[in-house]
Amino acid sequence: MHSDEQFAVAVIGGGHAGVEAATAAARAGARVMLITHNMETIGQMSCNPAIGGVGKGHIVKEIDAMGGIMARAADAAGIHFRTLNSRKGAAVQATRAQADRALYKIAVRQMVDAQANLTVFQESVDDLLIENGRVTGVQTKLGIQIRARAVVLTAGTFLNGQMHIGPAQAAGGRAGDAPATKLAARLRELPLRVARLKTGTPPRLDGKTINYEKLTVQSGDTPRPVFSYLGDAADHPRQVNCHITATNRRAHEIIHKYLPQSPIYGDPAARAIDSPGPRYCPSIEDKVVRFADRDAHQIFLEPEGLNTTEIYPNGISTSLPYAAQVEFVRSIAGLENARITRPGYAIEYDYFDPRDLQPSLQTKCVGGLFFAGQINGTTGYEEAAGQGLIAGLNAARFAAEADPWTPSRAQAYIGVMIDDLITRGAAEPYRMFTSRAEYRLSLREDNADLRLTEIADRLGLITAAHRSNCADKQRALAAERARLRQKIVRPEAVSAAAHRILGQPLTRATTAYDLLRRPAITYAQVLELADLQPGLTDPQYVRALATEARYDGYVQHQRAEVARREARYGVPLPADLDYHSVRGLSNEARQSLQTACPQTVEIAARLPGVTPAALSLLLIHLKKTAARRAA
Ligand code: FAD
Repeated sequence: MHSDEQFAVAVIGGGHAGVEAATAAARAGARVMLITHNMETIGQMSCNPAIGGVGKGHIVKEIDAMGGIMARAADAAGIHFRTLNSRKGAAVQATRAQADRALYKIAVRQMVDAQANLTVFQESVDDLLIENGRVTGVQTKLGIQIRARAVVLTAGTFLNGQMHIGPAQAAGGRAGDAPATKLAARLRELPLRVARLKTGTPPRLDGKTINYEKLTVQSGDTPRPVFSYLGDAADHPRQVNCHITATNRRAHEIIHKYLPQSPIYGDPAARAIDSPGPRYCPSIEDKVVRFADRDAHQIFLEPEGLNTTEIYPNGISTSLPYAAQVEFVRSIAGLENARITRPGYAIEYDYFDPRDLQPSLQTKCVGGLFFAGQINGTTGYEEAAGQGLIAGLNAARFAAEADPWTPSRAQAYIGVMIDDLITRGAAEPYRMFTSRAEYRLSLREDNADLRLTEIADRLGLITAAHRSNCADKQRALAAERARLRQKIVRPEAVSAAAHRILGQPLTRATTAYDLLRRPAITYAQVLELADLQPGLTDPQYVRALATEARYDGYVQHQRAEVARREARYGVPLPADLDYHSVRGLSNEARQSLQTACPQTVEIAARLPGVTPAALSLLLIHLKKTAARRAA
């Protein structure tokens, strides 16, 4: 059965990668069809109802800077906002919002429905149509063929998904959803490296059965952070508190007692799960076994929404049998009478080695086929969404025969993530941390728009209102920067104020901008000292200016380093380069390069086994080849 329609881009999956891919492709001008199992689960949060966090919040801001939907959905659904690491440096400060699960889904669905050029179709995709090494569309369970010049696959945990609760097993993409087995079998026919990963989720609790009097209250921050650069705290729904409790020795004993029935820690001969899970999001059994010296692990009790009493106990993800879950939950302070509304479980699923992808997230083996999200070995909504945006954009560009675009490591966390994935793969679920970014002093939440919105505009990803919002910010910051740089503050003119504000005299004349670079002085105090009131009033602008001033020296240094690296290593590598012909390369470097086929020397530099000496040999080889060609 053929569909009579031809699309530029077909996106499979309505999860976090899928919705960003579909809307980005559509914003970039492509005619897009989003095909997903169930329209009611578009934007569904499979695990914790929260967006952001350290590294992840940075990605959400970058998605927003490029016109994506995640930040706006988080603002529409956020019921508890915090700035994490608020006492640390600006580079590691991050926004996190606890979301109302239902409101989040509604917000995503509204944005998908409102997107021009985008059609949604509810069906299961069972097959990919491939002709002469190029994807030409997809085929659904009903046999409907949908033709598309590019296809973005964002199947999440659904490919051969297998769920585990103790010894009980069931096929599923996540609780309540069927797995994608036919598509998984079809993908296994392609020359792509495939393996299994696992992840898990905690039991959900009925809040009516929790004794909150025994718990520590965790309220949201004031002033309340906002995710979207175009947003406002007034967009947020009613705010609620979260609560904190902790496991204890008794709970750990119960977990130990049930370990033989765990699909991960049970008898090795009968062990059901062998695949790696997320190291930084371990199950409670992992924590109890790995950190045996600890008597307690914190649990954050997070409301699932404003119109439900269900609670998400963050920190006790588990695949132990249901009886074990009930027993250990009830051994915890405040949860003595707690009722489980949904048992926790682990899920194993197929993922594809992201080293088989190009930086555009197009597969190396099938033209026009792009992968994004959990299918590439990542974990987390934000990581999935960041990849989705880039894959969707590049699918649209592929369909329009335009060059792909991917941010570099120096431009965005999304660039760091994609580069890490395609050069190093994902032997375990990959999640973002600020420590992964060597240029993290430049990659801050306060400046993602300044880094990316102009580029997104050139790529056709943002609206006129978005463009002018960013231009206003750039203009205001430039004007204020210039004003502060021009203003000389003389010690003799401000001696009393300097004592009061700085706690010491000013020793020499300095510009107001240089004063702002001092860690112990705020923007408002600089204005007072320099007699420059009134200045900027928008807290977003103030934060960006003050942080920029404080980090200026480091950022200039990093920029120079990036420029040096780009000049040296930004050299393209021909796709057909035979690395056996590069003299002097070690076997390890040759094999690594031959397998990865990196697009540039810069990417080659990060491959395992490719040493600085190997890079020099490569550059010499390229120079000689170019000279020979010229001769
Ligand atoms: P998903 O959100 O899974 O979306 C996949 C979409 O594709 C779905 O809409 C599905 O219906 C659709 N689909 C799949 N196959 C087909 C097909 N053949 N035809 C049509 N539609 C299809 N992340 C964390 O950061 N921390 C955690 O602790 C954590 N725990 C998790 C626990 C569980 C049990 C699960 C299931 C997930 C967990 N996650 C966790 C992961 C988080 O849910 C994912 O990282 C994120 O949802 C990935 O987004 P995605 O868009 O790649 O896939």
